[in-house]
Amino acid sequence: MERCFSCGAKTLGASTLQHQIRLGGSVFRVTLDALECASCGESSVDGPLLARAELEVAARLAASGFASGQAFRFMRKALGLRAADVAALLAVRAETVSRWETGRTAVDRGAFAALAAMVTDQLGARTTTRDVLRALQRPVRAPRRISLDLSQRREG
Ligand SMILES: [Zn+2]
Repeated sequence: MERCFSCGAKTLGASTLQHQIRLGGSVFRVTLDALECASCGESSVDGPLLARAELEVAARLAASGFASGQAFRFMRKALGLRAADVAALLAVRAETVSRWETGRTAVDRGAFAALAAMVTDQLGARTTTRDVLRALQRPVRAPRRISLDLSQRREG
């Protein structure tokens, strides 16, 4: 039996946890499977599940067509890539990536689509590159509130 990371008790039970990710004007509320300690009330989520949640949020951003610098940065980090890695993959300078992410210049649509495609590939592609490019054709506002329930364990 695992011990609570906070108090060390062996009183962990299955529960769910609400994880919030704020991005510009958007709030993503993700429900995750967690372990809750009956002694101290502390909840914990395993790292891979949290990483998966960030990729799922990144996939929603990828499909939204809202190509902001913040969305670009979030997707990059969800993929575990450094700005320099992305610059090398897209054959642009690191400063260019920095300008996109800080909003000093608009994110290149092709670069956004390439990063979005990497996100959906990583998740097993439910959105196609064509869907992403289509969404990018129409400028949209940032989504306000998005709720994702990842508490059902997925296969694969
Ligand atoms: Zn505890």
